Amino acid sequence: MSEQAKHPSVSEYFGCNVFNDTVMRERLPKDIYKSVMKTKQFGIALESDVADVVANAMKDWAVEKGATHYTHWFQPMTGITAEKHDAFITPAGDGKVILDFSGKELIKGEPDASSFPSGGLRATFEARGYTAWDPTSNAFIKDNTLCIPTAFCSYTGQILDKKTPLLRSMEVVNEQALRILRLFGNTTATRVYTTVGPEQEYFLVDKKTYDQREDLILTGRTLFGAMSPKGQEMEDHYFGNIKQRVSDFMKELDSELWKLGIYAKTKHNEVAPAQHELAPIFTTSNIAADHNQLTMELMKKIALKHGLVCLLHEKPFAGVNGSGKHNNWSISSNDGQNLLDPGDTPLHNMQFLTFLCAIIKGVHEYAPLLRLSAASAGNDHRLGANEAPPAVVSIFIGDDLQKVLDALENGTNMKTDKDLEFVIGVDALPNFRKDATDRNRTSPFAFTGNKFEFRMLGSADSISCTNTIMNTIVAQELCEFADKLEKADDFDKALKELLIQTIKEHKAIIFNGNGYSDEWLQEAERRGLPNLVSTVDALPHYMDPKNIAMFEKFHVYTQEEIASRTEILLENYSKVINIEAMTMLDMTKKKLLPAAMKYGKKICDTAIAKKELGLDASAETKLAADLDSNTAKMYEAMQALETKVNAAKEITDVLECAKAYRNQVFSAMGDLRSYADQLELLVSAEDWPLPPYSELLFNV
Ligand code: ADP
Ligand code: MG
Repeated sequence: MSEQAKHPSVSEYFGCNVFNDTVMRERLPKDIYKSVMKTKQFGIALESDVADVVANAMKDWAVEKGATHYTHWFQPMTGITAEKHDAFITPAGDGKVILDFSGKELIKGEPDASSFPSGGLRATFEARGYTAWDPTSNAFIKDNTLCIPTAFCSYTGQILDKKTPLLRSMEVVNEQALRILRLFGNTTATRVYTTVGPEQEYFLVDKKTYDQREDLILTGRTLFGAMSPKGQEMEDHYFGNIKQRVSDFMKELDSELWKLGIYAKTKHNEVAPAQHELAPIFTTSNIAADHNQLTMELMKKIALKHGLVCLLHEKPFAGVNGSGKHNNWSISSNDGQNLLDPGDTPLHNMQFLTFLCAIIKGVHEYAPLLRLSAASAGNDHRLGANEAPPAVVSIFIGDDLQKVLDALENGTNMKTDKDLEFVIGVDALPNFRKDATDRNRTSPFAFTGNKFEFRMLGSADSISCTNTIMNTIVAQELCEFADKLEKADDFDKALKELLIQTIKEHKAIIFNGNGYSDEWLQEAERRGLPNLVSTVDALPHYMDPKNIAMFEKFHVYTQEEIASRTEILLENYSKVINIEAMTMLDMTKKKLLPAAMKYGKKICDTAIAKKELGLDASAETKLAADLDSNTAKMYEAMQALETKVNAAKEITDVLECAKAYRNQVFSAMGDLRSYADQLELLVSAEDWPLPPYSELLFNV
């Protein structure tokens, strides 16, 4: 075999498992290819005879690549993806089969929807739901299966997934942004789309060690575990040398992602030991969402091949940083502009400032929505814990851009400032972009030169909800701006007034300082910014009348759909805490208590034996006393937890139930853990039934 065949270059195999534009151009008749492209660009539905041709070409391509099955791949409210595989085979008489795939099967699937969470939207007697092809996201092959990215709805058209609202929100932001561009005299752009680059953090632990921990297996995080003598304090892991086993994993992950056309770009070690990050090159929001789901799925699968387990949980270990997902978001037009890139001409400057002000206003007015888009039981551990932004939403724009907004607000020119010499609306903005924006890592929503980075999301979350909300609130503000400006006689004057007014009314959301400080929390309260500490504080805001009004206005969600989503998420929260609490109880009864008691007896036996011989048993006696009191306290804490879980389970109101899990059960879990962790420090390694943190964090 030649060297080249052994090591094919990335450009040769990139996207080889994707039915992308190139493949379509090669394999589809010209007119069919053109209709598919129209569908992709303008969302025009495919004719059924066209769909038949596309389906057939897709099948032939997939079968050549070894596929035997196809599936409608979708993103139900479970947070992960779902797929039901059907073989291509069709009986052909004589006990033979032919391989067949019709346009109808491509466009619409009908999985039984009754077993997916619907939050009361779909009574079980009406179990039918259907999946509909999202032609803007390419079909791909995974595990010998042709996967067709789809949206998932109930039979009556109510949405049951995370993708449909995202697609809807992309439409509305497109419409409203185009109105603004037209006002600025743009006649070339016909489509505006939002782009996302999600940075994904994760942990890798050894599979053998993982298998000894029921908590990791059942809940994805350690429910017990005393801190390792070494944690992340040496700061020697971030960007550090990548260990061979991890590096092998990363290489395989990259190449599998590349085959799926996913632009995996950057990989490095993160702050905590055993923690890593992968960042892709950004792409259109819905594709970024699909790709992020695939990335998480492949991380888990490929880790296993290397004897590792990938933990996507937001807080697998107490005492070291957890994992997040930075959602880098921007908005671009199909005539090649990034609308958040401050331009070189006064016209572009004003256009940039218009979009910037719309975002500032939107984030201020709808902060609770953004906050709740990052709400989950796992992420509650991170927000506000000095490893991730606080639960208060604010915007960082940096000092230079701040000066620009100040000047605009106060009507002053900036001629006095040497570095920032310009007159709003006349001169180009000074070159403050990109490299000049210092990296404030403590802000939940930071302007980073030509995009915003939303840093609240948890590592295990789908990015769909955040981006649906982001797109919709920006559409809302752009719509309001356009309504005003389209009526104005003097556009320049009206625009300037509008921007000044917006800055005056919404500058309270801007904070360029240290988001981790206590002073900021006090200041935020003075400014009236909501601090929605936990998931149960945040989620009910989905149903705020103003939010419902916005979603309904833009047909992103109906009121019923929001109610169902809120219910699903609250129920999910309670279920997660319940499973964690039950796992803790089980581990305490079956493993930790017996271990503590057994070890305690060993020490007592030794003390008795020594005393009989007239030896000094003071160490044993003290240790036995410590073990004894901690064991007794752990037992009590276990009973208290059990009582609280049982009480929480009985509550029928979804919100009250979730509150009980948060306020009663979760805190009781903390108590139980603290005694167990103290015992771990007292009991010998040999007698303690769980592998310690030092092993989990450092033995890969
Ligand atoms: P950092 O870790 O400093 O935030 P990275 O380079 O790791 O920076 O990540 C930046 C992310 O932002 C990448 O995924 C990148 O593709 C993405 N990004 C860059 N430009 C845009 C844009 N216009 N829209 C959306 N995402 C973007
Ligand atoms: Mg980042």
